[in-house]
Amino acid sequence: MTASFSNLQLAEPLARAVAEMGYESMTPIQAQAIPVVMTGQDVMGAAQTGTGKTAAFTLPLLHRLLKHENTSTSPARHPVRALVLLPTRELADQVAQQVKLYAKFTNLRSTVVFGGIDMKPQTAELKRGVEVLVATPGRLLDHIEAKNAVLNQVEYVVLDEADRMLDIGFLPDLQRILSFLPKQRTTLLFSATFSPEIKRLAGSYLQDPVTIEVARPNETASTVEQHFYSVTDDDKRHAVHQVLKSRGIRQAFVFVNSKLGCARLARSLEREGLKTTALHGDKSQDERLKALAAFKAGEVDLLVATDVAARGLDIKDVPAVFNFDVPFNAEDYVHRIGRTGRAGASGLAVTLVTSNDGRLMGDLEKLLKRKIELEALEYDEDKPKGRINDGRRHWREEGELGDPRDVLDAPPPSRERTESRPPRAQRPAAAPRDPFFDQPYEAPTAEAAPAWDAAAKPAGTRVSANIKPKRKVAALFKSA
Ligand code: AMP
Repeated sequence: MTASFSNLQLAEPLARAVAEMGYESMTPIQAQAIPVVMTGQDVMGAAQTGTGKTAAFTLPLLHRLLKHENTSTSPARHPVRALVLLPTRELADQVAQQVKLYAKFTNLRSTVVFGGIDMKPQTAELKRGVEVLVATPGRLLDHIEAKNAVLNQVEYVVLDEADRMLDIGFLPDLQRILSFLPKQRTTLLFSATFSPEIKRLAGSYLQDPVTIEVARPNETASTVEQHFYSVTDDDKRHAVHQVLKSRGIRQAFVFVNSKLGCARLARSLEREGLKTTALHGDKSQDERLKALAAFKAGEVDLLVATDVAARGLDIKDVPAVFNFDVPFNAEDYVHRIGRTGRAGASGLAVTLVTSNDGRLMGDLEKLLKRKIELEALEYDEDKPKGRINDGRRHWREEGELGDPRDVLDAPPPSRERTESRPPRAQRPAAAPRDPFFDQPYEAPTAEAAPAWDAAAKPAGTRVSANIKPKRKVAALFKSA
């Protein structure tokens, strides 16, 4: 069933913007959420990035705010009426760009504030007055404290990617921000999953919300070929080389669970001849943008990333995704592999599973609602030279989880605020804009042979020591 935007009776300037965007019909989250938000009810929505959820909340919110539209130059006539909170700068930037497009034919103003860059331009925008403010929590609190942002006329608040905000440790910041808002308001909460923590948050801040669940988190694109290989920790990098080579894959994302593992693995793969860049929470915005640009230009073969770092980077249709580590949160599996096989293109998702991963694989089986068969991987050359298990040293030894923030790649709660303190000279002065985030993956044009090919050494077929060749291995585990 396709639902048309014309049934919505959206205000003309918004309908015009939608038409200009070329949207032909509503996505499922839009069809369900827009009519509800237009009535001003609270919503608890289960939907992920890529489902069209930004338009699902932005269009009805702008529709309701149009009654305040005016052309006055007085900031007092443009108080913040809608606040959209997101966990990362990239997501905030993307959502803000979409808000601008949807509001294009209105006189409603919008802006975005996030950490890691100079506060001054953001302050100037806020002082001019904006009806829609998109923000990450830490930087918003800085602006509230500096009295740049006044939130006592907010009518709508959107907690987007709420699960991620809780993961990162933003709950105290969210609670503070929400304490500045009028009690009488509409609250919209979007989350990939409705965990007990999310339900608690909703219970505290939403009033009789309408629950909307569309893209269930256990849905993975049918165009993605998924393989789960039984390996040892020592075999993992070799497995990556093998899959790249045997499939002729030139570029891929490699997901790991920890910042430390991310940097180490990138270094090891680099030493083994693959052009590799690490993308994790300790990288500055500038470094991240450079890494992405290098990947897009084909100067980098592998982007090794943690979930937090990769979240919000809307890079679609990467040829392959490796789960070097089985994700701690099963839902992250869906996010990770969602980067390949989009829009009808076929994609490859390879998960490297060790005998320690039984519990995590059990969680994944529960989420995917199917038994996962482990496969053996045949190797046709010797292990690449490099330090053994380099990507995993110190990681998840028995009883040694270390700082959970490292594992989850989450910045400490105050991090963004620290970053937002008076700018140092080396920080970029202007808000970074990265149109790359919205672009589909394009294969690089460079003619050079892929690195794995150049590095290839002829050798006989060899199979990982811990598995028997050419035999499908039944799942080794039962769900916890
Ligand atoms: P989102 O999930 O909000 O990040 O949106 C993902 C992408 O889908 C964005 O690039 C939107 O421009 C696009 N999009 C949103 N709604 C529609 C629609 N109804 N038809 C086609 N594309 C859409």
